[in-house]
Amino acid sequence: MQNGYDKRYDVIVVGTGPGGGTVARELTKAGKRVLMLERGPHPEIKGSFWQYLRYCALPPHSMLITNGGIGIVRGLLTGGSSVFYYGSCFKVPVDMLKRYGVDVTAEMEETRKDLPIGPLKQEMMTPMADRIMASAQELGYHWNKLDKFMYQDRWRPGMKFGYYGDPHRVKWSSRMYVEEAVEKGAVLVNDAKVEKVIIEDNRATGVEFVKKGRRQRAVASRVIVSAGGIGSPVILRNSGIQGVGMDFFYDPLVTACGTVADLKAGDEIPMSAGVHLQDEGVVMTDMSIPPPLDALFSLSALRVHKVFSQNRMLRIMIKIKDGLGGRITDGEQVRKGLTRSDKQKLRNGYERAKKILENAGAKGVFRTWVLAAHPGGSVKLGSILDSNLKTNRVDALYVCDCSVIPEAWGLPPTFTLICLGKRLAKHLMRE
Ligand SMILES: Cc1cc2nc3c(=O)[nH]c(=O)nc-3n(C[C@H](O)[C@H](O)[C@H](O)COP(=O)(O)OP(=O)(O)OC[C@H]3O[C@@H](n4cnc5c(N)ncnc54)[C@H](O)[C@@H]3O)c2cc1C
Repeated sequence: MQNGYDKRYDVIVVGTGPGGGTVARELTKAGKRVLMLERGPHPEIKGSFWQYLRYCALPPHSMLITNGGIGIVRGLLTGGSSVFYYGSCFKVPVDMLKRYGVDVTAEMEETRKDLPIGPLKQEMMTPMADRIMASAQELGYHWNKLDKFMYQDRWRPGMKFGYYGDPHRVKWSSRMYVEEAVEKGAVLVNDAKVEKVIIEDNRATGVEFVKKGRRQRAVASRVIVSAGGIGSPVILRNSGIQGVGMDFFYDPLVTACGTVADLKAGDEIPMSAGVHLQDEGVVMTDMSIPPPLDALFSLSALRVHKVFSQNRMLRIMIKIKDGLGGRITDGEQVRKGLTRSDKQKLRNGYERAKKILENAGAKGVFRTWVLAAHPGGSVKLGSILDSNLKTNRVDALYVCDCSVIPEAWGLPPTFTLICLGKRLAKHLMRE
């Protein structure tokens, strides 16, 4: 055997974020021979700013700037964006998925047993988050602690949150599922950028990928594309599947921030509490960020003097449910602007957040650059995929990641993707 990928596998999984990592782990546990092809490398997670910059925020690949000037960050390494995510566990859109024939209620239960999901214990709540929550509640918001994917028993006071990846393994990431899969016999090949799926007689038989500049092939009975909301449609389009990479969402966000004189930030945990205003399509949460990121945020808003007020900054993230639209180009460029309604939602959210911050004693409140971190809906269930996440037009080809979400939604998707990965694995085991 050479390099691990020149034999025939039961399943090839392309990409190792929460969608791909989960399905690979479940299938390996069930005895399937699984090959994971991951575009990025497998560095030891050090939790350093440089590692974060390199794998999650570097233009033109991990940080994508849309034609509307919005920055989209994504993790390109083993574990995908979940290495750098904020570990918040938002509810699954059960009713929406059921409308497309997908019921994940059993998988939600399984995930809750499998993973450490729950609100932070009080010792982990920090003064900034508590101050914002108290202010929001005083103004009448149902602002409560959020569930987190965190092994809280591993946490010790003074430990830094894993913004840049978590070497302490307190924050769950899909890298843990990938490692488990590898321990149980799955093969992981890094720095392998899949270009297209090989389709013969209307059936997927493998993939073509580039590693170290060489084009190579891997073969399997089933192919699961889990390259994320931007990567997956491009691979499918290269493989001859049309109608993908259009009319998607990316959940734009801004932050509102202001300084307080009587508090000093410690080792904050972001998104520890918040509120979902479902009718308005707005989520607001506390959102502390570490000094280098804070400085970048302040500079993006042309607030040079705020660069030096980082440890007194109260910050709220405002994330909206944007309308479907736009196009992902063959070169993974994102063409999508904000509609008038999207802009109005961001403005309304910002005005609300500003009042909460001012009520909490913050001065000089301003808003930062528009970012996005959950591109999805680019290979939709119902139109491109059937209820088993199989492509309608090609056999043995599945998609399992944020791109399958069929409608605008506006919430962080990791819990949902884990459930979809578990459900797909069960389906493949039955087949
Ligand atoms: C800063 C930040 C904070 C976030 N916080 C939260 C949060 O608190 N809660 C939450 O639920 N969500 C959060 N998210 C979003 C969440 O991380 C993503 O929505 C989720 O990781 C998407 O999973 P996925 O499987 O769709 O794709 P991804 O995680 O994007 O994984 C895709 C994988 O495919 C690989 N890949 C791409 N193209 C190819 C190719 N051609 N060949 C081979 N491999 C390829 C990538 O390298 C990557 O590993 C956050 C995201 C960011 C960036």
